[in-house]
Amino acid sequence: MDCGSPPSKPEGQIKAMMELKKEVTLDFDCCECDHPVGVTLRCEGKGLGAGLRTVAAVNVPCPTCGAVNRLLFEPSGRVHAVTPCTSLRPLPEPSLN
Ligand SMILES: [Zn+2]
Repeated sequence: MDCGSPPSKPEGQIKAMMELKKEVTLDFDCCECDHPVGVTLRCEGKGLGAGLRTVAAVNVPCPTCGAVNRLLFEPSGRVHAVTPCTSLRPLPEPSLN
């Protein structure tokens, strides 16, 4: 999967991996207003045990403009895609494999 250059990983942001219960912090830019949004989710239980390749989806309302962003992310905290949940035009669904 080629999504361009990978995001830089600043030192000191080593993520705890392989835990079944943890909080995942996701940072993304709002689809509507481009403001940076950070959310912390608690991931636990089933699904995580399947491995870090698991992709989960969550709807996160932007605190700035109120638009709902649909995030696809891995339990490792890696954001795959951000799409506007309330978009009027159909968007191609990302392939989840
Ligand atoms: Zn916004």
